Amino acid sequence: MMVTIDTHSPEETRYLGQILGKTLIPGMVITLDGDLGSGKTTFVQGIGKGLGISEKDYITSPTYNLINEYSGRHCLFHIDLYRLMDPLEIDELGLEEIIYSQGISAIEWADRLPDKTLTSYLSVRIMITGEETRKVTITACGLENTDWIEKIRDNFKEKRWH
Ligand code: ADP
Ligand code: MG
Repeated sequence: MMVTIDTHSPEETRYLGQILGKTLIPGMVITLDGDLGSGKTTFVQGIGKGLGISEKDYITSPTYNLINEYSGRHCLFHIDLYRLMDPLEIDELGLEEIIYSQGISAIEWADRLPDKTLTSYLSVRIMITGEETRKVTITACGLENTDWIEKIRDNFKEKRWH
């Protein structure tokens, strides 16, 4: 199950993340892939908003830690593997513990994880299609209930701003 949505501004990408954030259930893993500057962190900011994370806790790239933790309706672990040099570092990060926790994990550059690290997750791929436009593809991977993927699309269409 997969949906593709075009966004036309950072705000719109953030809003799409927010819609997703509202529907997330404990333990969910979201992977985010796409070039540098495609909007992965922007999307995670939206997820944070949807989870009711205080705007004071502004979500930025977890540059130094690789992992940042925020508390909202559910705990959000924001992980950025951009600076991951050695897959062995993953063990040191304690990533498995986080992935199998009741929190929500949002993992940027998840492509860098060894194959089969994740079994069920929501994949978000963002393609740069223009200066202010992005193609966002959300795919349910190994998840049993995928009805809500369509709901995300419907909710987004209903409320889109332009
Ligand atoms: P990433 O985490 O993928 O490196 P960021 O979210 O940090 O990307 O940055 C995305 C950049 O692209 C921001 O500067 C943002 O303002 C810009 N941008 C322009 N159009 C869009 C769009 N439609 N969606 C998301 N970001 C956009
Ligand atoms: Mg980023």
